[in-house]
Amino acid sequence: MKNGQCPKCSSREVYSSLENGGIGDGYSAHVLDGDSMVPTRKWQTLLCATCGYYENYLLDEVKIAHIVEDPQKAGWKKIS
Ligand SMILES: [Zn+2]
Repeated sequence: MKNGQCPKCSSREVYSSLENGGIGDGYSAHVLDGDSMVPTRKWQTLLCATCGYYENYLLDEVKIAHIVEDPQKAGWKKIS
């Protein structure tokens, strides 16, 4: 998708939100952190204008680092 081609329909009509959001439930995305969901505006959406498929990328380095630091405490697990 980041190469400008849709992985579902192979179209090259792929658009990227510029910054601070894209497709979501509101002006924030919410990241699981232990017992709470912590809001962030740092994500980007890539959208295929042909089939409607989209992908979201979390760009919040602080929140990603927190998950990597102690995944279990944050409610995540690494896929091996
Ligand atoms: Zn597509």
